[in-house]
Amino acid sequence: MVTVENDKTLSFPPTQAPLRSFSREETFARLLEGIQDCAIYMLDPEGHVVSWNAGAERIKGYASTEIIGKHFSEFYTPEDRASGVPAFALTQAAQKGKFEGEGWRLKKDGSRFWASVLIDAIRAGDELLGFAKITRDMTDRRMMQEQLHQSQKMEAIGQLTGGVAHDFNNLLTVILGNLDALSQQVPAEHARWRRAIDQAMRASERAASLTQQLLAFARRQPLKPKPSDVNRLLSRWVDLVRRTLPESVSIRRVEDPEAGIAEVDQNQLENALLNLAVNARDAMPNGGTLTIETANTVVDTHDATVPFDLKPGKYVLISVSDTGIGMTQEVLERAFEPFFTTKPLGHGTGLGLSQVFGFVKQTGGSIKIHSRSSHGTTVKIYLPRLSEGTVTQESAKVDLLPYGKASASILVVEDNDDVRAFTVEALLHYGFNVIEAANASEALRVLESKSAIDLLFTDIGLPGLNGRELVSTVQRKYPNIRILFTSGYAQMPSPTSSHWLPEIPLLSKPFTQSQLYEGVLRVLTS
Ligand code: ADP
Ligand code: MG
Repeated sequence: MVTVENDKTLSFPPTQAPLRSFSREETFARLLEGIQDCAIYMLDPEGHVVSWNAGAERIKGYASTEIIGKHFSEFYTPEDRASGVPAFALTQAAQKGKFEGEGWRLKKDGSRFWASVLIDAIRAGDELLGFAKITRDMTDRRMMQEQLHQSQKMEAIGQLTGGVAHDFNNLLTVILGNLDALSQQVPAEHARWRRAIDQAMRASERAASLTQQLLAFARRQPLKPKPSDVNRLLSRWVDLVRRTLPESVSIRRVEDPEAGIAEVDQNQLENALLNLAVNARDAMPNGGTLTIETANTVVDTHDATVPFDLKPGKYVLISVSDTGIGMTQEVLERAFEPFFTTKPLGHGTGLGLSQVFGFVKQTGGSIKIHSRSSHGTTVKIYLPRLSEGTVTQESAKVDLLPYGKASASILVVEDNDDVRAFTVEALLHYGFNVIEAANASEALRVLESKSAIDLLFTDIGLPGLNGRELVSTVQRKYPNIRILFTSGYAQMPSPTSSHWLPEIPLLSKPFTQSQLYEGVLRVLTS
């Protein structure tokens, strides 16, 4: 017999006589009491609680005096009770000897936890004495699994999206570039042809901007990060966005003067904030308050409030909250997916939050949405904070040389034949001397045989030696050659961990003839 703290006596184990009864019982009682991580308790054959250990009190919140004698179905959710889950569990245990399962259970305070449950029938011969029940709180593990699953899903969608967008960029470079060349050739009096070309151009430009949004989600958009005073950027941005919101929406700013400096692409950050403001506006059709808050945040331990993939460190936190309709759990789980929208056709693209997500991740930060139906939404963006740093000013625009004055020699390295042909032709058109190479080793051979190259214009993603590796060799061997990168996307894990990009200029695909010309001239004249 084991005496438990509520003075009820139980026979346990029921069938076997203890060898040395006293010490065994005492040891067992201590063991049971000592277990804090599991709720271990007994039920009578009808399911009333007859014993309660410290673990049960800790997990479920009831003291033994409050719960002994009550029916164990109290721990189940109303939905589970209504569909007969507790009764089913007991019947199974009685018939088969045990029942195992997982599900949401209720604590005394009404909050839910994810329980792993084992119910064992206890018999003496044929007689059912009751049930031993072991419950573990698996909420944290379940949350981790869900978040992991979620991030794997996002990773997979990102891979796919990024791949498609990258290839589309190459195609669009050729389409846009050739349309651009055509439009310069067709005389103004051929109105019909000009219209046709213009329409095709506009459609390609829309396709290019869609591709850009997909790249943003896939964390592969070319970013131009620079140290930025987040408060200053926000105050400028708020002035701008105020004009685009209806009067029924008021804007509140809460500024932590110590919020700090983050290394971000300012345009993309403004773009992300705008996407959040538009979502907030849509969520508050009858008006409300949009709050934009900054904070200087240090993450050292992990709890449920910070994104699970956020590394310990110093962050600038930007929170954007609204008092709108909020999100259901289902919407919350899918909100970042590209093309996921709950808005009517023509109102939502489903690309707003995916841009924010991709941009923040690519910047080395993290993001979390806190939202409940009818309780508004808060989106928290964590950007890595620079410990010190100077805020760089906008660089002055270079004056472009007039067309026709270009006589520099340019080595074009591009593996895509169409893109290379278009690029070479465009540069020849502007009067440059052009040499082409389809990969890095060809490029290096050209450089060895002909040293009078002024500019290397290279794709980053090349088969074999990639563009970055080519450039590091060229910079070492031919330090006078200027360099301009091009890419369908920037393959950099985070701007803070690789500083090459801000130093070497990049012309993102797709580019038009004139963008190519401007890009090349800017590098040649800098
Ligand atoms: P879109 O706004 O084009 O629908 P988003 O990617 O910006 O695409 O958002 C995806 C979905 O997430 C929205 O359709 C909406 O259901 C939900 N959502 C986003 N922001 C909010 C918000 N502030 N409040 C409520 N729901 C939101
Ligand atoms: Mg949106």
